[in-house]
Amino acid sequence: MLTIAIDGPAAAGKGTLSRKIAETYGFHHLDTGLTYRATAKALLDAGLPLDDETVATAAAERVELAGLDRAVLARHEIGEAASKIAVMPRVRRALVEAQRAFARRAPGTVLDGRDIGTVVCPDAAVKLYVTASAEVRARRRFDEIVTGGGTAVYESVLDDVIKRDARDMGRADSPLKPANDAHLLDTSEMSIEAAFSAARAIIDAALGR
Ligand code: C5P
Repeated sequence: MLTIAIDGPAAAGKGTLSRKIAETYGFHHLDTGLTYRATAKALLDAGLPLDDETVATAAAERVELAGLDRAVLARHEIGEAASKIAVMPRVRRALVEAQRAFARRAPGTVLDGRDIGTVVCPDAAVKLYVTASAEVRARRRFDEIVTGGGTAVYESVLDDVIKRDARDMGRADSPLKPANDAHLLDTSEMSIEAAFSAARAIIDAALGR
């Protein structure tokens, strides 16, 4: 089955890009970050610890891909908790199994996350690694919060972005890094439209279209 793997750090624009790509090619889309977030939310809601691998794995095994909703899982604390439980190998194994089953859906799939091209779907037809400088990503996240009516301090958003990168890139199991055969897309100086046309050109060339 044809799979497009999209990886990159938090707030690089992967989500928007992946949704647009899935829509354009008529493929199913899975934001794998939501599987880690749903696991973390189940633990937080039940008042369970975030540092017990057996408990977290049981929560991961109960995650239903069909019910994942970013609106419910967007909260900052959920993202932080997700990146803590994402260091646990058994949690990852449970979620990766569900992600691989999703990747086999016809006529094709787009999966986005941190380890899709390296671990989840190493045979993906096309791999993109979408990135942007930490400052640009923090600015986008900050603008998103403020536009949504919230308040934030740019410096602390930047601090969070840097800490999250360090945790995602520094973990032993499936660290965030580009696959050897990934196409790099730096969106620091690009609008979402420009990033999308660049991504489409890469995908069409890779698929021989
Ligand atoms: O992408 P998002 O911010 O929703 O992901 C939340 C956290 O889940 C990430 O910081 C990362 O630690 C973890 N994650 C992961 N592998 C993926 C997707 C997300 O470890 N494929």
